[in-house]
Amino acid sequence: MKTFCGRANPTTGAMEWLEEDENYDYHQEIARSRYADMLHDKDRNVKYYQGICAAVSRVKERGEKAIVLDIGTGTGLLSMMAASAGADFCYAVEVFKPMANAAVKIVEKNGFREKIKVINKHSTEVTVGQDGDMQCRANILVTELFDTELIGEGALPTYEHAHKYLVQEGCEAVPHRATVYVQLVESKRMWSWNKLFPVHVETEDGEKTIVSPSAMENCPGVPSVCDIQLNQMPSSDFTILSDVATMFSVDFSNPVRSASTSYRVQLEPVKSGKAQIVLSWWDIDMDPWGTINCTMAPYWVKSTSASQWRDHWMQCVYFLPNEEPVVQGEEVSLIACRDEYSVWYKLQKAREEENKAAVCIESPVCRCQAHLLWNRPRFGQLNDQNRTRQYIKSLMKVLTKDSVCLCISDGSLLPLLAHCLGAKQVHTLFQFFKANHLEDKIKIIEACPELLTSSHLEDKKISVLVGEPFFTTSLLPWHNLYFWYARTAVASHLTSSVTVLPQSASLHMMIVEFQDLWRIRSPCGTCEGFDVRTMDDMIKNSLNFRESKEAEPHPLWEYPCKSLSDPQEVLTFDFRDTVPEHSLSTEGSVKLLQKGKSHGAVLWMEYHLAAGISVTTGLMQIANEKGNCEWNPHCKQAVYFFSSVLESETRSDLPSAVTYAINFNTKTGEIAMDFKL
Ligand code: SAH
Repeated sequence: MKTFCGRANPTTGAMEWLEEDENYDYHQEIARSRYADMLHDKDRNVKYYQGICAAVSRVKERGEKAIVLDIGTGTGLLSMMAASAGADFCYAVEVFKPMANAAVKIVEKNGFREKIKVINKHSTEVTVGQDGDMQCRANILVTELFDTELIGEGALPTYEHAHKYLVQEGCEAVPHRATVYVQLVESKRMWSWNKLFPVHVETEDGEKTIVSPSAMENCPGVPSVCDIQLNQMPSSDFTILSDVATMFSVDFSNPVRSASTSYRVQLEPVKSGKAQIVLSWWDIDMDPWGTINCTMAPYWVKSTSASQWRDHWMQCVYFLPNEEPVVQGEEVSLIACRDEYSVWYKLQKAREEENKAAVCIESPVCRCQAHLLWNRPRFGQLNDQNRTRQYIKSLMKVLTKDSVCLCISDGSLLPLLAHCLGAKQVHTLFQFFKANHLEDKIKIIEACPELLTSSHLEDKKISVLVGEPFFTTSLLPWHNLYFWYARTAVASHLTSSVTVLPQSASLHMMIVEFQDLWRIRSPCGTCEGFDVRTMDDMIKNSLNFRESKEAEPHPLWEYPCKSLSDPQEVLTFDFRDTVPEHSLSTEGSVKLLQKGKSHGAVLWMEYHLAAGISVTTGLMQIANEKGNCEWNPHCKQAVYFFSSVLESETRSDLPSAVTYAINFNTKTGEIAMDFKL
């Protein structure tokens, strides 16, 4: 059997369907999954174990047999905990076949074959009775089906079904309860991920301002959750407007309702300001008394939270539909609405409260298109004034009154900037926005670069070709080199003295030690005394499924690391020329200048816009002598994890070096790399 997988082709910018081995999908899923991260989450594991032991004891004290249902068993970890705690029998349900197979092996290896039955089904398909999957209903319900938003992975419908059909009334649930907390804040930084701020352009005819259309101003945005490592957000980047409030909680030991509903809390602002953002996180109580608590509270709420790193559960940022001024001491209501899988928020002032009953507002739907076109980091990037200034400065250098300009970038403001700065004619590809009243100045060409004809350009040649470059299909930093391919495709439409902006790009690399991110790719060995090496092997096998190991994208502002080497330029790409036929490759070595564990290499692109003006999509600066790095907050960087982290952990004496071989395949647009420690 074959599977068709969608992948963007960095040489054409188009989505292509590739025929892959039937196992491809699940290898990808396993290789990039969060299982390892969960197994490394000591705090979570310890608390589950304590909660499970306590629940088994309570059932035993009642003189009952302890029959456990573990929904979403993964490696079988929670069932093994239950069996060790003295449970009489465990039904371990897992829908994902490769994981269910792994669970069978792990359970057996750890000697629990008699006590744990792995059922490879979705829990809603599980049957109970003499010939059923389960002999009888369970009296202990153990699950770990939560995402950062708590309910996004379908915990509510799963619980609803389990209470109806799979567990006894009055069963013990671990966790016993989940509670969602909220805090109202003002934050220009986070608000810039959701709204387009005015762009001011100094021109020869005075200052011009690009403002977003009103449809965008009033658009509620998209309902997809914005989950981030809030512990990496400095307190100077937001202003707290309210105390932390409990928004809602779910008792898992009683029947759960998944139907849409809403909740309301009264907040008394502790400060006047603009309410823009609701920050939210949850905690779970493993026992009914809340003595075993596992919380996602950020650092300013719980000082020890920064040391409890996890990536599978973070914190949520919710954008209010509009910013609302609030006054210190004047109560407002915050309304949370949820359906089965997601949550959204609305603020109500006291005077608006007449219609208290009718609050079940609809899930946000983007009406302005911008939120469909631009994701949150892209909004942040477009609102980055420093970055815009670099583009304006370089456009001013290259544009003249006679410039015929072509812009190639997705949903870019460059055509507007070029127009403001006096280009005679601006054409643009991939522009989904009409700039009002500028139709005769900025022409949107609905063709891909390969199909561009001179009639699209009104028989004029392009004197200035610009790009950020940015394309929504790019996953890794070098995928934006699609600009180079597009530039090559339109070569015949360019004047002989064409200016290309950026004139070139370069790939940079640095060896780093991660504070925490290394965990997601590091083997677990044993977890709370249970041997989970089968899982480690499975992940390793899936990582090796692809011939070459691949770099993976991560937004490193969320994942602190320190540099162990100097940043190094490894490849350059000259946009003034067309893409060469042959591939570009380089070899060399990087000196390790700092002591530390070489977890991997980080790679990013820099664009050289015009003489002396560059923008980076990666390293902004190395902040101190310890080597702490500051990364571009709007871009994902490429991370290549070294396979032998352990080896480099024991390396303590300087100096040493890492050798590398990097190859940019111009046929595929992909970069392959190899490192030796
Ligand atoms: N219990 C493990 C793994 C948790 S990850 C641990 O704590 O380490 C959640 C797992 O639940 C995933 O493997 C997912 O495939 C599975 N899952 C989610 N919903 C499910 C459902 N309704 N029925 C069966 N499996 C489910």
